[in-house]
Amino acid sequence: MNDAKAKILSGIKEITGIQRVSIEQARKRTLAQTIISPINVPAHRNSAVDGFAVRAEDLPSNGQTGKLEIAGIALAGQAYSGSIKDGQCIRIMTGAPLPDFFDTVIMQEHTEEHENHIQIDTSHRQGQNVRLAGEDLQQGQVVLHAGKVLTPPDIGLIASLGTAEIDVKRKLQIAIASTGDEIFSIGTTPGAGGVYDSNRYSLLAALDRPDIEIINLGIIKDNPETLLKTFNEAADFADIIISTGGVSVGEADYTKAALQSSGQVDFWKVAIKPGRPLAFGHIQDTAFFGLPGNPVAVLVTFYLFVIPALEKMLGSTNIPIVPTIMATSAEGIRKKPGRTEIPRGILELSENGEWVVKITGKQGSGILSSMSMGNAFVILEHDRSTIKKGEQVAVLPFSGLF
Ligand code: AMP
Ligand code: MG
Repeated sequence: MNDAKAKILSGIKEITGIQRVSIEQARKRTLAQTIISPINVPAHRNSAVDGFAVRAEDLPSNGQTGKLEIAGIALAGQAYSGSIKDGQCIRIMTGAPLPDFFDTVIMQEHTEEHENHIQIDTSHRQGQNVRLAGEDLQQGQVVLHAGKVLTPPDIGLIASLGTAEIDVKRKLQIAIASTGDEIFSIGTTPGAGGVYDSNRYSLLAALDRPDIEIINLGIIKDNPETLLKTFNEAADFADIIISTGGVSVGEADYTKAALQSSGQVDFWKVAIKPGRPLAFGHIQDTAFFGLPGNPVAVLVTFYLFVIPALEKMLGSTNIPIVPTIMATSAEGIRKKPGRTEIPRGILELSENGEWVVKITGKQGSGILSSMSMGNAFVILEHDRSTIKKGEQVAVLPFSGLF
């Protein structure tokens, strides 16, 4: 399984095209420039709390009263510009610029206010509750590196620099097709032995991302000429073509024959279940994935092999971490050593705080409900044999993947 992934990745090249977008359109796009801060953030020293700005030398030491006269007020966006004398303070609101004269802020709750003065005790320290200019970002500092997939905090950070537009990697053009004489479009009436096309819809949903544009090739009949013609046309504008079906041994002949004749596509039997047959290669310069036909196998191979290829193509550096959790198997699971098996499970936190996973019933690679019911893949490693109830297994939650 890892060999297949490594081979695929070695055949994927990063795109160079970039696009200028408003930061409002930038979420989940891959940054294609270095962002350097043109300013200090915050731009000026300011108060972290509502309270009173004071000078450290006016803080009382033991035994003293700590009485300070209120000279005026500083609001956020409205600096105090009046004069200040020793022994005075000003009322200051959160975010208001701190006049140079002061270096410390006392929270309002820690003062006693009497008419035009406050009383403070000896519990305060110089510099407290003061936010320094540039403490978040310094002018000239690298804020974000190219390759970052932009998150909500990243977008906020860029906005805090006053920047409205940025360069991101252009969208990937992905062509998708279903293959098979027995596959019918929804909205039509399948003939005898016909099956509604579900794969194209799970893939459309899985590829519904801000950094992807879809070229929907529909359903292609099991006819070598039609297949090749459609794929070759799509290759003129797609970065990636993904087809499903037609790559397994028995009836692989069509896609396989057609694509093998183009000379750049390899057919593999990857040692995983579900998802054994897999084709990968190039049609002209376009990456081609021939995923299995079975609906569960499509999604498993999509997340294992296609998603990493997309990230590499976009040059994304911070691929979201989807942590594997170790969980206790609630039941025995039959398994043959010699292949990675990926049943779908329901992962739950038990009352004693332990992760427990239960398999979602029948696990045939055509049984899509086994995946819809689950919330996690259970990863049963290549060399492992049957799992006993109570054994620890690795679990990959869907959240983060889907
Ligand atoms: P194949 O790899 O073409 O032999 O297909 C394997 C199984 O998946 C067969 O039972 C197909 O009918 C089914 N299948 C193939 N493509 C689709 C699709 N687009 N939607 C639903 N089932 C499919
Ligand atoms: Mg088929």
